[in-house]
Amino acid sequence: MKYALVTGGSRGIGRAVSIKLAQMGYRVIINYVNNTAAAEETLQLIREAGSDGEMLKFDVGNAEQVREAIEGWQAAHADADEYIEVVVNNAGIRRDNLMALMPGEDWFNVINTNLNSFFAVTQPLIAQMQFHKFGRIINMASVSGIMGMQGQTNYSAAKGGIIAATKALAKEVARKNVTVNAIAPGFIKTDMVEGLDEKELKKTIPANRFGQPEEVAALVGFLASPEAGYITGNVISINGGLYT
Ligand code: NDP
Repeated sequence: MKYALVTGGSRGIGRAVSIKLAQMGYRVIINYVNNTAAAEETLQLIREAGSDGEMLKFDVGNAEQVREAIEGWQAAHADADEYIEVVVNNAGIRRDNLMALMPGEDWFNVINTNLNSFFAVTQPLIAQMQFHKFGRIINMASVSGIMGMQGQTNYSAAKGGIIAATKALAKEVARKNVTVNAIAPGFIKTDMVEGLDEKELKKTIPANRFGQPEEVAALVGFLASPEAGYITGNVISINGGLYT
């Protein structure tokens, strides 16, 4: 049985990724924080894709909750060959504001949910990936973490941080056939971009449209596959030509 953990798997990109991994034969652990109904819907879609999964509710920004949830899962799956071989660190939030006006909590919450979560979730999974000599760590960054975006100093810092962490961890684990990559999407049509002026923004995108979650999921699927074993420490943009 092959297991994949997708943080923020209940909606948006995480849901599309969960379905893609299910199609590839993974049992998917769907993490989420609030929206149980959406997580249940993802689980249903995973089953329709011919696989199975489970829901695991925890706040990725709360290190204690993360540890309890992951250690609990590992204790319940103690067979030698049962381990999480793919983790997609996808859960994220944005709290945009000009830095001069940004409340301190919006800085810390965004760093915590989008960056500190990477350490909390991934660290307990590395040993087993190395032991089994196969693992895939895929981190959802953003174009904002590469180019920097006004109104997003908190989000750009978190996403830039995860890109740097991706490169560093990749070097630590490559010998054991564990790859670590980041994906940097541009504008993707999910709840996260609700309220943005799509008509105006798409004029800035050479492809003249927002991307679909399934397009990001296809890239995750490739990076998770054995065929991508020689790609590590990279950041792959998927943005319709917005920034190259
Ligand atoms: P959505 O807002 O559509 O979904 C966010 C998901 O993350 C939900 O499943 C939500 O769970 C979960 N989540 C949020 N906070 C937490 C938390 N503290 N603990 C656990 N789960 C949490 O986001 P997208 O699908 O658009 O974004 C997914 C990732 O892609 C994010 O990291 C985002 O920064 C990144 N990204 C998105 C872009 C876009 O244009 N959409 C562009 C570039 C990057 P629940 O349903 O329970 O609320």
